[in-house]
Amino acid sequence: MSQFSQYNFKGQKALIRVDFNVPLNDKFEITDDTRMRAAIPTIKKILGDGGSVILMSHLGRPKDGPTDKYSLKHLVPHLQQLLGSPVLFANDCIGEQAYMTAEMLRPGETLLLENLRFYKEEEKGDKAFAQKLAKLGDVYVNDAFGTAHRAHASTAVIADFFPKDKKMFGLLMESEVASAEKVLHQSQKPFVAIIGGAKVSDKILIIENLLERATDIIIGGGMAYTFMKAQGGKIGNSLCEDDRLQTALDLCKKAESKGVCIHLPSDSIIADKFDANANDSTAPSNNIPDGWMGLDIGENAIEQFTNVILNSKTILWNGPMGVFEMTKFQRGTKAIAKAVAEATQKGAFSLVGGGDSVAAVNQFGYADKVSYVSTGGGAMLEYFEGKELPGIAAIKNAQ
Ligand code: AMP
Repeated sequence: MSQFSQYNFKGQKALIRVDFNVPLNDKFEITDDTRMRAAIPTIKKILGDGGSVILMSHLGRPKDGPTDKYSLKHLVPHLQQLLGSPVLFANDCIGEQAYMTAEMLRPGETLLLENLRFYKEEEKGDKAFAQKLAKLGDVYVNDAFGTAHRAHASTAVIADFFPKDKKMFGLLMESEVASAEKVLHQSQKPFVAIIGGAKVSDKILIIENLLERATDIIIGGGMAYTFMKAQGGKIGNSLCEDDRLQTALDLCKKAESKGVCIHLPSDSIIADKFDANANDSTAPSNNIPDGWMGLDIGENAIEQFTNVILNSKTILWNGPMGVFEMTKFQRGTKAIAKAVAEATQKGAFSLVGGGDSVAAVNQFGYADKVSYVSTGGGAMLEYFEGKELPGIAAIKNAQ
């Protein structure tokens, strides 16, 4: 594996796997360009060196081959704007036109290929398809952290067709991996993992893996009530996975034996229905009246969690503390974002990773006040579950 920053791309055609899977509205306008912006530094470094760039990505989940709705051509104007230079487009990711255009690319020029998932072979990790893609470039750069947990043709299999010194991570991938490693393998203690969101079942593996590494685990969001009920609490109509009560108890027992402190919210903001205009009140999280449900952590829990966070040197946050999409139930998540920002200012390293907590720090304006916000939801989650990600392994473990 080569080091991206040290590599001189002059005269080279770099084939970059990016994650341009951006949301589009019904007029094909990009409603959130975060993923595109995240890849710009990598592209600009290559163009600046005097290399040329061939970009490949998926967009959405096309089922039956080429579909206008999922065409990457919709991204060309915005990409040109972000790069400040023209972008060519090939309406197939392999085939004559793609090869010809790639061949004729001059230094400083960029080509965007059509959606990789128009071929079923992409998600199947088909070797022959990967080889066809590989022919497009001299160097392979993987900058798509968002798909690093997939063993697809363009994210992993393709690496086999490049020699060791001609495959590498891009700048985004490098910083994602470095931040995740810092938390998982080089954490300064105390290390708090804040885990929230709806379901325990989605987060069991991550909690289990973190029990080996963290000093404290804060559990908030809907999943906290399964823990509360497992410990004999009364949770009214709160979210609960009855088939996970034993799992919750086992996790608590394991934590105790490892000396990891699990923090559950002492009180909750409760509502009489799952609705933005529901009546709300406060109750101890283990004594919620029938007909009411916990939709956010309460004031005491905010104080309790804030104290733990402010005392930590390493912070990992995955999952909101409540139904933050509704104004009435976003106080807890907002307060935790604020505490993570304050701890960061005091010198802690903080990583926010995984779907909804990333949306929350963005929405509440704390994204630039934490150490790192990951662009990869599922990929980051699997990384913290302790799994080896195929997209990382394909380059890192290359012979
Ligand atoms: P996840 O994708 O598992 O991280 O879950 C995120 C979702 O959990 C968000 O849409 C939240 O609205 C939801 N959520 C958080 N807290 C609760 C709660 N107490 N009850 C129901 N849903 C919740």
